Amino acid sequence: MGGRTAIVAGAGIGGLAAGCALARRGWRVRVLERAEEIRPVGAGLGVAPNALRALDVLGLGDPARTRALRGGGGIRAASGRWLMRTDQDAVRRRFGDELVVLRRSDLVGLLAGALPESALRTGARVVSVAPGRAGRLAQVKVEGVDGGGSEVLEADLVVAADGIDSAVRRELFPRHPGPVHSGATCWRLLTRPEPPVGEAAEIWGRGHCAGIMPLRDGSVYAYLVAPAPEGGRAEGGERRALLEAFGDWCDPVPRVIESAPEEALIRGDLRWLATPLPEYHRGRVALLGDAAHAMLPYLGQGACQAIEDAVELAHAVGPGGSEGAGGSEASVNVPDALAAYSASRAPRANAVAAASARAERVTRMRSRAGAAVRDAGLAAASRITPAVFMRQFERTFGWEPPKD
Ligand SMILES: Cc1cc2nc3c(=O)[nH]c(=O)nc-3n(C[C@H](O)[C@H](O)[C@H](O)COP(=O)(O)OP(=O)(O)OC[C@H]3O[C@@H](n4cnc5c(N)ncnc54)[C@H](O)[C@@H]3O)c2cc1C
Repeated sequence: MGGRTAIVAGAGIGGLAAGCALARRGWRVRVLERAEEIRPVGAGLGVAPNALRALDVLGLGDPARTRALRGGGGIRAASGRWLMRTDQDAVRRRFGDELVVLRRSDLVGLLAGALPESALRTGARVVSVAPGRAGRLAQVKVEGVDGGGSEVLEADLVVAADGIDSAVRRELFPRHPGPVHSGATCWRLLTRPEPPVGEAAEIWGRGHCAGIMPLRDGSVYAYLVAPAPEGGRAEGGERRALLEAFGDWCDPVPRVIESAPEEALIRGDLRWLATPLPEYHRGRVALLGDAAHAMLPYLGQGACQAIEDAVELAHAVGPGGSEGAGGSEASVNVPDALAAYSASRAPRANAVAAASARAERVTRMRSRAGAAVRDAGLAAASRITPAVFMRQFERTFGWEPPKD
């Protein structure tokens, strides 16, 4: 069988999207995932118009839209007062799509289902990579996670989509300091409170914030963020700790927490790559998603950027062609194509990561006076100048896929 070959390390949203994007362009793809099965962590996910446009390129935009619920709602103070209402019609008019909320498992299922049969191999951990160059293929050393033997695979292209603690990033960028803790922890959950929750909202307190997102099937995806030391655990149980921190917040925050069993709470420290990677490639290896630009979640763009990466990467490397692996590079030389990918993606995704960090400073403002000024300013700005308020999302939501 002909065609150029790609190995993708990691089957998160980024790796699966890369596998689909490359396969659609005729590449022979293998996606290697260290876990024994694909189990998406994180309950729900906001998917912005830029990512829906990227999913359109993969033929998955409409299936995602039919599974999604309109984000709607807006931002409230912990007391319940609305500070800003999201006008989804205005978002649609301006960006052609809305900001929607999906179950993570739905998105992962769509992406995995669009991979060619037998492209996905689970229980396979990438342990090292030799990046190759124009005349020499890249090599990937893979181990079975059950202690099974190791093997070395060769490919025209390797995609490192192995997440925030990327082993490939450590190997190829040994001087990069890696992820840092933001000082906060996030709890995520899926639950089904009674009575059901009506409207989506992000709710801002002092140093804390919460998001409540009703889903299409009547369940609710919620996230709760609070200052906490890295690696901490609540001694009396996470649910109890959350009720202590958020118990006096407006409805529906306390009852959403109460309705969730302890085992439904996913606790994770919020970490990010505060030192941006200057480029997202080495030789024939492209970094993508959290491996390249793990960001704080305050703009809900980490996975959206990963899907954009996948689409731009597949565009940059061109069609898989019909030459055998290692044969002629068809029309596109992979290392040069990855330099172009890097030049396009690194400035954009690094800027979104920086903006997410700035958004954290506003969302989790701790001082009473600062939070009061923030709330009053947000309420006034969204009332008086909603168009100006929306302009800040122009660059992020306005991304267009590259044209052939
Ligand atoms: C609280 C929170 C809320 C968020 N909300 C949103 C949101 O609303 N919208 C949004 O767009 N983004 C959001 N994000 C960000 C989003 O979750 C991530 O950016 C996205 O999931 C990253 O996907 P990824 O595929 O790059 O990495 P991951 O999802 O981490 O996937 C990496 C995969 O690689 C595998 N792997 C790791 N090492 C190896 C190896 N050596 N060999 C083989 N496989 C390996 C892992 O097992 C994993 O399956 C949020 C993040 C957080 C923390």
